[in-house]
Amino acid sequence: MKKLVMIGNGMAGVRTIEEIIKLAPEQFEITIFGQEPYPNYNRIKLSNILQGDTNFEEIIINPLDWYKENNIQLFTGEAVEQIDLEAKCVISDQGREVEYDELIIASGSNSFILPIPGADKIGVTGFRDIQDCEMMIKSSKQYKKAVVIGGGLLGLEAARGLLNLGMKVDVVHLMPHLMERQLDPIASSLLRAELEAQGMNFLMEKETVEVLGDKRVSGLRFKDGSEVEADLVVMAIGIKPNTAVAKNSGIFVNRGIVVNDFMETSVPNVYAVGECAEHREMVYGLVAPLYEQGKVLANQICGTAGKPYEGSVTGTQLKVAGVDLFSAGEIFEDGSTKSIMIYNEYDGIYKRVLTRNNVIVGIVLYGDTKDSTRLFRMLTKKEDISGNSIFHTECSGSGASDDIAAMPNDELVCGCNGVTKGAIVEAIKTQGLTTLDQVSHCTNAGRSCGRCKPMVSSILAHTLGDQFDAAAAQKTSICGCTTISREELVAEIKAKGLSSVKEVMNVLEWNNEEGCTKCRPAINYYLGMIHMDEYKDDRDSRLVNEKMHANIQKDGTYSVVPRMYGGVTTAADLKKIAEVAEKYNVPLVKLTGGQRIGLFGVKKEDLPGMWEDLDMPSGYAYGKTLRTVKTCVGAQFCRYGTQDSMALGIELEKKFERLDTPHKVKMGVSACPRNCSEAGIKDIGFVGIDGGWEIYVAGNGGVDLRPGDLLRTVKTEEEVMEMTGAYLQYYRETANYLERTSKWVERMGLDHVKEVLADEETRKALNERMDQTLKKYTEPWNEAIENEEIQDKYYSKHTITVGSESK
Ligand SMILES: Cc1cc2nc3c(=O)[nH]c(=O)nc-3n(C[C@H](O)[C@H](O)[C@H](O)COP(=O)(O)OP(=O)(O)OC[C@H]3O[C@@H](n4cnc5c(N)ncnc54)[C@H](O)[C@@H]3O)c2cc1C
Ligand code: SF4
Repeated sequence: MKKLVMIGNGMAGVRTIEEIIKLAPEQFEITIFGQEPYPNYNRIKLSNILQGDTNFEEIIINPLDWYKENNIQLFTGEAVEQIDLEAKCVISDQGREVEYDELIIASGSNSFILPIPGADKIGVTGFRDIQDCEMMIKSSKQYKKAVVIGGGLLGLEAARGLLNLGMKVDVVHLMPHLMERQLDPIASSLLRAELEAQGMNFLMEKETVEVLGDKRVSGLRFKDGSEVEADLVVMAIGIKPNTAVAKNSGIFVNRGIVVNDFMETSVPNVYAVGECAEHREMVYGLVAPLYEQGKVLANQICGTAGKPYEGSVTGTQLKVAGVDLFSAGEIFEDGSTKSIMIYNEYDGIYKRVLTRNNVIVGIVLYGDTKDSTRLFRMLTKKEDISGNSIFHTECSGSGASDDIAAMPNDELVCGCNGVTKGAIVEAIKTQGLTTLDQVSHCTNAGRSCGRCKPMVSSILAHTLGDQFDAAAAQKTSICGCTTISREELVAEIKAKGLSSVKEVMNVLEWNNEEGCTKCRPAINYYLGMIHMDEYKDDRDSRLVNEKMHANIQKDGTYSVVPRMYGGVTTAADLKKIAEVAEKYNVPLVKLTGGQRIGLFGVKKEDLPGMWEDLDMPSGYAYGKTLRTVKTCVGAQFCRYGTQDSMALGIELEKKFERLDTPHKVKMGVSACPRNCSEAGIKDIGFVGIDGGWEIYVAGNGGVDLRPGDLLRTVKTEEEVMEMTGAYLQYYRETANYLERTSKWVERMGLDHVKEVLADEETRKALNERMDQTLKKYTEPWNEAIENEEIQDKYYSKHTITVGSESK
């Protein structure tokens, strides 16, 4: 087998590998190095993460199991530093050397940071990866004023996100108009008016010359001498292809790594694809052309005859709620162009098409973009427009269905993934698709930025005709192995009495008989939730950390976090932990965020021995279960405490530990409203008041920061326990697997949850089912110590552990 190595684990690179696997599944032994510590994720959706519309788990495109299933060796958090072109091998920053027959460089780009004094101060960031997003989200919790430099696509999306995070936002732009490379002055001023109405403030025609402040940024100075205050500065002024490795190794680099029409660099057997590549003096920063490049490269590497890559025309859209815009091609008129234009200032609709010799050469649409795909096709195909009506207007009488009928089959619907109307219609007809989710899964349409989903939905409606069921079409199936939704799965398990993961997949006719890493853990959870104490857990269907009862770290070692009920420990336990840490040469001993002690960097084969020596229960720091109950010191020692927070925390943790929940659950107990345990941002938080407890729910202190909502105020600890049992059980029974309580409450409605739990009989029944479920759990570390079969299967040096995991 030939050895194929790829530098970079991002969108363009991994899409190329997907194409290669489709063409020649057995041809290569594939190794991928990714500098970021994650599997391939949808970078486009970082804007949605910042704007609070999604979370990291939802934007993973290829989970870790995908790499395993395709026999791909993946090194995450590890960058390639050097390519030895003579020895044909790459060398990583961890000293790892891997030989290649074919090498793909897909290292993407970095944010361009202005080379001005102070640009390295704390609080200055680009907008490129998860880390940048996390930094912005964290800053928004502490600071109030953000300044975004750059009034282009990324800058405006970042600014919208920061507004959503509660910051005051100024956008600084060098030019007199926003998005001046994509929009003409009219469209640009409409955009500016809309964004100002949303709360953005613009500082136009300002050239930033200095970042002010001591260690942390405090403001910006402009060339005209004026200044603006800032606690956070986001530089979104462009990208810089990541060419360092290629350049240092002697591969020809101009702005990007120079490639020919087959994505070959100046060195044989070395290719470049994506934002790091320069093709015919162009470096592209949108996925559609990069995916086209990936297709061409896959053909080239697999030796399959394919078309050369000849460059792309790209179309731009902005992912900001309330803004509908599209732009492609030329923007400015010259002596040889003519414009066709509609401008309805009253409704904020502006459409302008620029033509030359009866052919469209530029499009700007603002406020109504439904003509975009058709016009874009006419532009890319250089269609003669004489005799054609250019814009669909209200009075032209063409509804959505007529539009779809009139659309030619080769019209591009999903620009990011290059999916045409014809491909979608064929997939719907030949594969019997009925939901948007299925179409997306089968064709890739809508898998990237998601803007084409309304159009895909219209095509689905048009193709299915009377058979189209609008509500069912929006149904989300558990995963690509089935068309069944969560509700249907739970109903079928109950109705047919299904009792194992295999049986569910068989009886419900999964199209992939082994299932996948998305559906197997979900089915296992639903079976356990429905059958309560009767169900025998299918350990191999669990996510990898749960399977191992330890959290896998980025270097392949594990962490061990013993339980400390309510965050309370003893001198004897501390001694034991210290001795174990010494005995096993644990490289890192660290207090965790959940008031426990974590031992990090443990070898898999040492786990059972360590657990035995510790003789403490597992803290489940890895599970979709109750993680910790954080407590404050409370009335036992604190002079403000009105309640015994430690005692309640310990009681809660002892009762609900090991309980399987749809996602992790964290609790906090504070003995007074000063709230030292941060109970207001926990899944369930308890705050002591004079004569009782306030119970807060659906808080979240992670990426999707959310304060908890008051569920109820109760008088006694017994009532706390009863309400918590009922709430948790209702969550277990109605949430989607991997849905946090914060999202679940938002979906169900707080008033609805309150109403359900207000009824005493309902609470009683929920608590009975909870108690029945709690009976079945045993201590997992103990089980591993006592069971040699488990030790051999999971903890022997020779077993390989790969799986998907979510935080
Ligand atoms: C906030 C945001 C919004 C966007 N919105 C859109 C949009 O709406 N539509 C659109 O089409 N595009 C959008 N894009 C652009 C799109 O995400 C990129 O074009 C695409 O991700 C580029 O893919 P790539 O594989 O070339 O680079 P990347 O996805 O950046 O992947 C490159 C990877 O290589 C890694 N790497 C670099 N050097 C090394 C090394 N030496 N060793 C190992 N690994 C290395 C990097 O860490 C990175 O993970 C957006 C981008 C951002 C940041
Ligand atoms: S929350 Fe109140 S009782 Fe608890 S430690 Fe803080 S001040 Fe003391």
